[in-house]
Parts: sequence; structure tokens; C-alpha cells
Amino acid sequence: MTATALTRRHLIGTALAAPFVLGRPAAAAAGARVAVVGAGFAGASCARALRRIAPEIAVTLIEPEARIVTCPFSNLVIAGMAEIDSISHGLDGLRAAGIEVIEDRAVGADPAGGAAGGTLALAGGGQVGFDRLVVAPGIDLRFDAIAGYDEAASAIMPHAWKAGAQTLILRDRLEAMPDGGTVAIAVPANPYRCPPGPYERASLIAHYLKTRKPRSKLLVIDGKDSFSKQGLFLDGWAELYGPLVEWIPVSQAGSLLGVDPAKGEIVTEFSRFVADVANIIPPQRAGALAQTLGLAGEGGWCSVDPQSFESLLVPGVHVLGDAIVAGAMPKSGFAASSQGKACAHALAALLGGQAPQAPSFINTCYSLVGPEYGISVADVFRVGGSGKIEAVEGAGGTSPRGAAPEVRRDEARYARGWYASITADIWG
Ligand SMILES: Cc1cc2nc3c(=O)[nH]c(=O)nc-3n(C[C@H](O)[C@H](O)[C@H](O)COP(=O)(O)OP(=O)(O)OC[C@H]3O[C@@H](n4cnc5c(N)ncnc54)[C@H](O)[C@@H]3O)c2cc1C
Repeated sequence: MTATALTRRHLIGTALAAPFVLGRPAAAAAGARVAVVGAGFAGASCARALRRIAPEIAVTLIEPEARIVTCPFSNLVIAGMAEIDSISHGLDGLRAAGIEVIEDRAVGADPAGGAAGGTLALAGGGQVGFDRLVVAPGIDLRFDAIAGYDEAASAIMPHAWKAGAQTLILRDRLEAMPDGGTVAIAVPANPYRCPPGPYERASLIAHYLKTRKPRSKLLVIDGKDSFSKQGLFLDGWAELYGPLVEWIPVSQAGSLLGVDPAKGEIVTEFSRFVADVANIIPPQRAGALAQTLGLAGEGGWCSVDPQSFESLLVPGVHVLGDAIVAGAMPKSGFAASSQGKACAHALAALLGGQAPQAPSFINTCYSLVGPEYGISVADVFRVGGSGKIEAVEGAGGTSPRGAAPEVRRDEARYARGWYASITADIWG
């Protein structure tokens, strides 16, 4: 792919991160109420798009956090290249868009409330009525999956797979480590939030070590034998970091069996590693509320109708983002936002007594291999003949291998542009 092609693709990506425009349903039900749980990439995008396309529908958004700290770009914070404030977004922009925002946690729901609609129960004791409910709770970490790795252990061996306090623990532990130490990142098997995320993290930690603690070593202990943008990452690591980074696939070390936070030990089927700083990314499942409401099936993820995002298990409840099984779409913020917008159109149609239109979706995942070295993968998706979300053949692509430094610099710039535009679009 040429630099021109990259530029064109970037423009397409950023244009599509802007308002998602489809035909507006003729008559959305005036006075209809939609409650949205979670103001992350999926929920906030859905709430905002719904207000834009059907202002007669009342939208209430429930979110316990006063500020959303994004996982995208949190790897820069961990590597000391950005401050946490630069990835934190308040909810006033959503209020200004006409959404009622309630700072609370949803704890239960009666979705089948008859003609009067359903009700959502909040931890603070309140209730929110709705005609349709959207649940976008993100992920929960499975603290029952790795021996010795529970929530208490994550204070010593942070996962940093939900951004905020965990991001800062990992950053502080890296800063406190002496030069010559060993950092280990344990990566789970699929599926998990952000397939290329662990490798971007490895890249930026390698950059930190190379520039600040060059006698140190980084081990990437993987639960897989192949990963997203693998050739591009491995090329970049060889070019920028040499032997500082060592990737250990599952066929070499075996699956992760357990950890001992007090000793810094990571035990796999065939090996035992000792790390000064251990970043353990455990297996995941849909956020707790999805489990409580009976939306999650076997494996802990939620199955939905890909056209409307209505749960296949609980009618009238739509589920979005990382919590769902979305066919070929990855669990990414861009994908979650694209789903949120498509779901808003489906909700407006359904509440107006119409059938939802066939949606299409987009995703671009940028990763920084170094501060001035970006790579990406982009895809367009639609519901295919299988009834599942499929990638449209020939509509996507990855960055070229062996590209000139200017191409990598441009992609790093596009990554920053993507972050600025999508966060302004959602929370601005
Ligand atoms: C290190 C890292 C880097 C990443 N980089 C990228 C990237 O470059 N590009 C990209 O596209 N994606 C990236 N991702 C993935 C991205 O963060 C997720 O895919 C995205 O956050 C999913 O959006 P979501 O709305 O499903 O979940 P979230 O964004 O996690 O939002 C869920 C929200 O629901 C709220 N919530 C949960 N339970 C309740 C409840 N009971 N009541 C009320 N609210 C509740 C939570 O507080 C949260 O705000 C990255 C992820 C990681 C870990």
C-alpha cells in the first residue's frame, strides 16, 4: 500500500468516525424512552446518535464514573509519554446534547414491564423507566481463571485492562523498577478486549526501557501462537528494540497456570518466569450487569441480532460493544462506537414501528510501535449470508510491511488524529 492509499484510508476512517448518517425513520414514537447503561465507547455513541436522529425519544444514560478514562492511548500513559488527564473525558458534552445523565450503577432490571415498559434498578435506590434498554457495560476480568490471580493480586501485578487506577499502578511500578530489571506481560488467548492492545503496550514499554532503563528485558508471554498485525509488530520490534523484547508463544511456554505476586512468579505449563514488574492480562467476559440480567451465554459473552443488537436471550434489551459476540468485528472502541450508532438507528426504527435497516460498520485499529512509528488494520463489515457480521472482502487492509519511516510517522500522526476525533465525537 502506498502513502497515498494510507492517506485516503485515514480520511475515510476519520470521516466515518463523524456522525453516522442513514435515512431517518419516518415517525419515531414521540414520548418513547430509551435507557442506556454505560457511557463508554458503545453506550455514549448510541445515546448521542439517538438524540441526533430522533430528538423526540427521551434518552437516559447511566454511568457510575464522573469521568471516562479511555483504554485507547492508556499505553502511552503507562510508558510515561502522556498524562492520565489527556485520556479522561467528562460527561457534560453528553448532557449538552440533551441526554439525561445519571451518575449511578445499574444493578438490575425488569425488562418485561408490560405496556408500562421496563424498569432499571440503580445502586443508589432509584429506578429508571424505559421502553427499550441498551446495555453496554464493557468487560469484566476473570479473577477465577489463573491460580493466584485475584483482585488483590492485581494491585501488585496490575492488568491495566480497564483504564484508570490500574493504568497508574503499572506506570508507577515501571518507574520504580531499577535498570536491568525484567518486565513480563502475560497475554490471554482469544477472545479479549483489543486484540492488538497487548503488543502496542509491549512496544511502548520497550521504548520506555530502551530510553530510560536500557539494561532491562521485556518478556511477552502469550496465550497464542499468532496475533493481530503480528508481522508488522515483529518487524517493528526487531527494527527499534532488538533483543530487549522477547515474544514467547504458547507452543513454547505453554498456557499460563498461575502467579505468585509475593515472589513475582509467573508459572506456565513448561516454564517459570520471575519478573520485577508483571502485567497480567487475564481472560475476560461481558461486564457483570450482562451476567446479572441473564444476557450472557456460555463463555460469558452476549449473543445479539446483528441488525438491531437486540439480545437473543432477553427481548427488548440491546447489548453493545466489548460485551457481545460480534462475528468478525474485534472488541475495539472504534467498533463499539460504530455498533452504538447502528443500534441508535435500529432503536429509532423499532420505536417508530418500522423494521431496522441493514447496517454496515467500520473499524480501524491503530497501534503505536514507537512514538513516531504507527501501524494499522482497517475493515468494513456488514451482516453476511451467514446471518453474522462479516468483513467485506477487499474493503480493508493493513499497513504495508517494509514501509519507509515517513509512512510509519504518518500513521502515528493519524493515530493521534483518530483519538482526538473519536473522543470529541463521543464525549466532546
Ligand atoms: C490497552 C488498551 C488499548 C486499547 N486501544 C484501543 C485503540 O487504540 N483503538 C480502539 O478502537 N480500541 C482500543 N481498545 C479497546 C477499547 O478500549 C474497548 O474496545 C472499548 O472501551 C469498548 O467499549 P465499550 O463501550 O464496550 O466498553 P467501555 O468503554 O469499557 O465502557 C463501559 C462503560 O460501562 C460502565 N458500566 C459498567 N457496568 C455498569 C453498570 N452496572 N451501570 C452503569 N454503568 C456501567 C463502565 O463504567 C464503563 O464506563 C484498547 C483497549 C485496551 C485495554
